[in-house]
Amino acid sequence: MGNMFLMSYDAVVMGLGSSGSSVLYHLVRKGFGKVLGIDARCPGCGQTSRSSAIVRLHYTNPVTRDMAIYSWRFWMRFREETGYEREVYHVTGVGFAGSGGDTKYVEEVVRSLRSRGIDAEIIPPDKFKLEYFPEINVDDIDVVAWEPLSGYCDAYDSVQGFIKYAVTGGAEVRYPEEIIRLEAEGDTILKIVTNKGVYKADYFINTLGVWTNKVLRTIGVTLPIQPAREDVLYISMDNPPGFGWGDLNLGFYGRPDTGSRYLIGGLEPDYKVEASNVEPGEYSTPPLEILRSRLERASIRFPSMASAAPISMIYGYYDVTPDHQPIISIDPRYKNLIHLVGLSGHGFKLAPAFGDTVTDIILYGESRRFPLEQFRATRFREGVDASGRYKYGILG
Ligand SMILES: Cc1cc2nc3c(=O)[nH]c(=O)nc-3n(C[C@H](O)[C@H](O)[C@H](O)COP(=O)(O)OP(=O)(O)OC[C@H]3O[C@@H](n4cnc5c(N)ncnc54)[C@H](O)[C@@H]3O)c2cc1C
Repeated sequence: MGNMFLMSYDAVVMGLGSSGSSVLYHLVRKGFGKVLGIDARCPGCGQTSRSSAIVRLHYTNPVTRDMAIYSWRFWMRFREETGYEREVYHVTGVGFAGSGGDTKYVEEVVRSLRSRGIDAEIIPPDKFKLEYFPEINVDDIDVVAWEPLSGYCDAYDSVQGFIKYAVTGGAEVRYPEEIIRLEAEGDTILKIVTNKGVYKADYFINTLGVWTNKVLRTIGVTLPIQPAREDVLYISMDNPPGFGWGDLNLGFYGRPDTGSRYLIGGLEPDYKVEASNVEPGEYSTPPLEILRSRLERASIRFPSMASAAPISMIYGYYDVTPDHQPIISIDPRYKNLIHLVGLSGHGFKLAPAFGDTVTDIILYGESRRFPLEQFRATRFREGVDASGRYKYGILG
């Protein structure tokens, strides 16, 4: 290796987005001594940097729902939990609208949340219009699920909070530093080789998101993860809705941003993308067709958006699995490689639960809080399908 140095750690976290930074935080919090986090860009500068970061509890899959509840409670206490100088969580309330066959699932989720003592309710659409936002069109909606304490996070700042805690507690963080390959012997990963050094560790945690397979290929591992592009439109308008919104009928979601800004995303990402070209960014010239269709759809629900001014359009890439649920598991071949990837476009909000879970797997061989069998890496070839109930997979 020429003059490259070799250092040893208890654990190395590969990739420091919302997932890796939360794992690093939880490792330190649970007493791991010598841990290293590495990122090829900078912490929070991958797909996390473009995340809408909506935090909601509405999940039809009961385990993902439990992880959402745990994480939401964490986001609300973020400052206490991390000692970070700022709050990162904004309470706005989030509504979920549906009709027809979706109605019973929407109601089921709310019933389940309420049975846990969580403030959530089913609101008849006319009442929602009257009490929450008179400018909404509810003609096609049968039901609104309302979560008054849900909202969104500042995604980048959340990562910085996790990292700061970890570094203060003794973790090392290196960036920009690119992992080039892993090296294994038998069933054990021995080390990683980056463009700047070589690191040995007892455990290696894969939180590389869409970039996972590029790195894992070097040890002959490929996970069933497909990239998909999501475009998000930012608009400015008078009196934007003050709440987040998920629309099962019209296939879009939205949330307030600062001031007069509101953002609008789609529930169906574009799967026609090259795995080698997944750098997130902002359009200098937004694709007009997508911009128009986003605005048209949202204006059916919120007619005053028809005269909103588009401000900017960004894009990022989801790491999508066949059932739109994450892979959280020890690699079937390498006993000290743990995957937390395939978050399928809904993984920001779950970062606190993910971090807790992965560190439990290292400490105890399994998660103590959540039953994770359905998220194992081998499930796809075993015929297990952990999909949610709605036709839009990214809702989980
Ligand atoms: C536009 C958009 C909107 C979204 N909206 C929401 C939402 O409203 N709510 C929600 O819950 N989720 C949302 N998501 C999903 C959520 O943001 C992601 O699931 C989550 O942030 C992914 O985090 P990550 O840490 O797994 O991946 P990333 O943030 O991509 O982190 C992976 C890291 O690995 C690093 N890396 C890659 N290759 C290497 C290498 N060779 N060596 C070293 N480092 C490397 C990268 O630099 C990167 O920082 C959205 C995603 C997008 C793109």
